[in-house]
Amino acid sequence: MSVSVKEEFDVVIGLETHVQMSTKTKCFCSCKVEFGAEPNTNVCPVCLALPGSLPVLNKKALEYAVKASLALNCKVHELSIFARKNYFYPDLPKGYQISQYDKPLATDGYIDIKIDGKTHRVRIHRLHMEEDAGKTIHKGKKSYVDLNRAGTPLMEIVTEPDINSGIGARLYLEKLRNIMRYIGVSDADMEKGQLRCDVNISLKPKGSEKLGTKVEIKNLNSFRFVQKAIEYEIERQAKLLLKGEQIVQETRLFDPSSGKTFTMRTKEEAHDYRYFPDPDLLPVRITVEYIENIRKSLPELPDEKEKRYVKEFGLTDYDASVLVADKDLAEFFEKTVNLYTKNPKAIANWIINDLLGRLNEKGLDITESPVKPEHIAQLVKLIDEKVISTKIAKEVFGEVFETGKSPEKIVEEKGLKQITDPEEIKKIVEEVIRNNPKEVEKYKAGNTKLMGFFVGQVMKATKGKANPQLVNKILNQLLNS
Ligand code: ADP
Ligand code: MG
Ligand code: ZN
Repeated sequence: MSVSVKEEFDVVIGLETHVQMSTKTKCFCSCKVEFGAEPNTNVCPVCLALPGSLPVLNKKALEYAVKASLALNCKVHELSIFARKNYFYPDLPKGYQISQYDKPLATDGYIDIKIDGKTHRVRIHRLHMEEDAGKTIHKGKKSYVDLNRAGTPLMEIVTEPDINSGIGARLYLEKLRNIMRYIGVSDADMEKGQLRCDVNISLKPKGSEKLGTKVEIKNLNSFRFVQKAIEYEIERQAKLLLKGEQIVQETRLFDPSSGKTFTMRTKEEAHDYRYFPDPDLLPVRITVEYIENIRKSLPELPDEKEKRYVKEFGLTDYDASVLVADKDLAEFFEKTVNLYTKNPKAIANWIINDLLGRLNEKGLDITESPVKPEHIAQLVKLIDEKVISTKIAKEVFGEVFETGKSPEKIVEEKGLKQITDPEEIKKIVEEVIRNNPKEVEKYKAGNTKLMGFFVGQVMKATKGKANPQLVNKILNQLLNS
């Protein structure tokens, strides 16, 4: 954001995120939830809204939503109520969406994100359950409706307006996705529409208490677009406000190709939806015992894991945060550490500095890595036991990545074992000294910087295989005698 904007305004952002739960069946009927199925094949009287059909809540959806609420540090309520949100759209067969209104499942949670190493808390206002609508597809002059998605269980997660930058919004969403994956309630894949986010954004004069008029941005289907749309919108609103103009409360759309937002419609109010309790569904009553049992079933979450990595393995905060940011990556790391427990820090370094870069280059996920935990464990062990030097290890690592062969095998096949026999190194050092009389003379005359040159020559002669400590020791002995 430009300097003048930063000086003049506070940016205020709240996110409303829909997360699709990965239940096998829909929220209120037993139709399959399936991505990419033949249109209108996963439908039944309930999700088609045929007269006389009645919804029944999917227990798994409730369990998942409670799980998510607890993972997001929310208070889960023993009583929540489904309400009808009324509006007309071709992909909404009932003419209303089953949602929750004034009695949501959970409230008052938070997600902590880290911005420039500092923890920033984003409070969660509420989490409620609702059903998804179908899809309308426009082709030429015709429109088609696919109701496979109608009735898919969603969670809507609404934050307090605690975010103040595009990057903050992005970090919040990435963390939310990670938590959903850790607890296994959603794949939260934005590209597949399993995580959808609406951004509410306003500016206010720096330090002012009163919130400004907000604009809502919809249609954001990647983390990058969320960030970009916000950055564009901050500048747009700032320009208007600096000119003394008012912000119109409205819904805008983001156009990825131009990087701009534009008006979609002026904002509807809650009463437009004529919410009322759905008489077809019982109030949702759950017991404290039910909630606590789910709490007990929660796995170790990213924040706890990060702390443990620092404490138990001596990793830096940064390294720990990189490893826990992806459940599969954390699993990969822990597997490796279990295979070779002596040097978790080195293992973390190899994964973060060498493996992730290469995977990125090839567009591979950690689960598709040709380098396996066994390989990294073996490689670090070979270095620790001084069988190979770190430099050779880099070469071996590259080879493992390309061929999938084990480090031990590569070291064996290519004869890369480190030379640790002092007699053998002594012979090579003597030869280097013999071959470079001028440098030896200069060194003895006081140019001690030349030590680096001699080490280099020995390494060259041994193709990098000589043990560096021994090389240094023997060079010192022979040159200073
Ligand atoms: P609406 O009734 O328009 O949906 P809500 O009060 O439900 O508004 O808030 C929706 C989202 O917008 C929440 O995430 C909230 O934190 C955020 N929000 C509310 N007011 C503002 C504001 N002035 N600027 C930015 N975000 C806001
Ligand atoms: Mg709202
Ligand atoms: Zn159905």
